[in-house]
Parts: sequence; C-alpha cells; structure tokens
Amino acid sequence: MSKNIDWENLGFSYIKTDYRYIAYWKNGEWSKGELTQDNVLHISEGSTALHYGQQCFEGLKAYRCKDGSINLFRPEQNALRMQKSCQRLLMPEIPVEMFVDACKQVVKANKDWLGPYGSGATLYLRPFLIGVGDNVGVSPAPEYIFSIFCCPVGAYFKGGMKPTNFIVSDYDRAAPQGTGAAKVGGNYAASLYPGKMAKARNFADCIYLDPAKHTKIEEVGSANFFGITKDNKFVTPLSPSILPSITKYSLLYLAKERLGMDVVEGDVYIDQLDQFKEAGACGTAAVITPIGGIQYGDNFHVFYSETEVGEVTTKLYNELVGIQFGDVEAPEGWIVKVE
Ligand SMILES: *Cc1c(COP(=O)(O)O)cnc(C)c1O
Repeated sequence: MSKNIDWENLGFSYIKTDYRYIAYWKNGEWSKGELTQDNVLHISEGSTALHYGQQCFEGLKAYRCKDGSINLFRPEQNALRMQKSCQRLLMPEIPVEMFVDACKQVVKANKDWLGPYGSGATLYLRPFLIGVGDNVGVSPAPEYIFSIFCCPVGAYFKGGMKPTNFIVSDYDRAAPQGTGAAKVGGNYAASLYPGKMAKARNFADCIYLDPAKHTKIEEVGSANFFGITKDNKFVTPLSPSILPSITKYSLLYLAKERLGMDVVEGDVYIDQLDQFKEAGACGTAAVITPIGGIQYGDNFHVFYSETEVGEVTTKLYNELVGIQFGDVEAPEGWIVKVE
C-alpha cells in the first residue's frame, strides 16, 4: 500500500522512510550489509568524516513505470563514480555489485514510498560512505560505514520545465587539482556561502568558473552545464575539477545518437555565451533545468528566453525522462529493474 502522501506536491526534503542499508568496514573487509529501521548513526567523536571531511556520497533515483515495475537509472555509474571518490580520499571501495544490490534492497523495502506513475514523484537514494572510528591525527580512518537511505521527492518542476536564472560567483567550489571531480562533502561546504549570496540576489544558484583563471564555465550550482550552439551542437565543459555528471554523459549520448547532433566536450568561455541559442543545467536532482539567463558582473545574458523553453532542451528532456520512467526505449544497460 502506498503511503498517504500528496505526491503531486512533494518537494525535495528529508522524509524518514522505513528502511536504510548499512554495512561496516573493519579489519580490511566489508560486513554483510543489512537493512535497519534506525536512522541515527552512533559514531566515535574522533571520526575522520567529522574533522577532516573524509566522506563521499552519491545521488540517484528510482522511477515507477506504467506497468508498476521500478527502474533504477544507470546505478553502476554511481557505483563506479563512488569508487573514484574513494580513491581520491583513501577510503575502501564498494564493489559495484554490492552497491547496486544495496540500492535494490533499499528501494524494495521502501517501495510504498515511491509515488504512482504519472505523479512525477520518484524515490531519491542517497548512498554515502564515512570514515569512522577513534582517531585524531590527519590520516585515513581505521573504520568506515557505507549506508543508503531514501526519500520520496517530487517532480523538480511542477507543471513543466521553467527557465531559471543564475549568477557567476567570484568564489570557487574546488581547487584546480583538488577534489572537484570527487563527490565529496567538502566541495558542498565550500558552496554554501556563494550559494547563499546568489539566492540573496534572487538567483537560483551560482555558476562556478574554472578555479585557475576564472574564464570558463565549470558548474551550475550542483549541476553540470550544457549549451546548444546556434548551429545545433551540444556543448558541455571539460575540466578535471568538474564533477562528471551521469545525467550529462547520458545527454551527450542521446544528443548524438538519438537527435543526430554533433557533441563537444570542451571549453565554454564565459565571454562567449552568444554562440548558444539554448542552455541548461543537468543532474539527477535538477534533471534538466533550462537556464534563462546568466548574470556576469554587470551583464545579464539571456539565452533562449526567461519564460519559454527551447526546442532542443525540450527534446532532450523528453528523451531522458521517457527512458527513466520506461516510456522510451533505453540504450542497452541503462535501466536496472528493481523488481
Ligand atoms: C552530483 C553532482 C552533479 C550531477 O551528477 P549526476 O550524476 O548527473 O546526478 C553535478 N555537479 C555536482 C557538483 C554534483 O555533486
């Protein structure tokens, strides 16, 4: 039985669901993970996650299909990206199979929290890995916890996509050879203040430029950037300090293979926005957010429109979301059925 939730009006906030997965790394190996109803962690005050930011996380969604079955979208990609984050922060990797199996267990155990097909609601999964155990010096933790919880979340846009405005920040979320490409909490802690400044000026969030020279677009808040050029190329930035968005790489593929577009991963100079007829931000939470305009210094650049969504952005959105909810045929291996 579905929970008594107003699925159409759900936002994006923490809701305690029934079960979460938890596994412990001790003495060089992972315990057999299990589901628990307890949503509180009891960890050492010396945990490296608390002092030195030794932690990483992931985000992915489960989708209810028309036939009632449940889809996960490319969960192995999240598993592989988490392994890269682990390598960067010297944490033990989670095997891909263990990660995907844990996602499935959490969705199955909480399936009443996944809204009906057509409501736009999804189940957002938050896998995370933290360094724990008694420690005080700057060194990798003696023990780790890997857990996945989930929350029901609403459609990002109620009543269709709407363009959103952003402002270029003077701050950086990551350093040139830092941890920008790893999904780690430290990048987010660094983004809270610039994000607050952007919101105080009525922008949805800020745009981060390349941290070395501040001439090229890197991230749009906690999403990746893409632009559609006037000659119909799909362009997205390439840089070692960008978090490699699975949504972005999926759009790159769909633009090329399904829409027949040329695709480019390269430099996107902030003073060359005129080349684009449309632009957007993409990620699991944001799906595709059309960018209305970008404020850069005193200049406000409008792409397609501040109120209307461009044709290519709309096509990409329909293709991606159609695949996720099982209405459009998926490229091989993109959909993993939960049951
Ligand atoms: C998670 C994240 C994204 C989006 O990645 P997806 O895999 O598409 O969800 C983009 N930028 C940042 C900084 C992120 O943390």
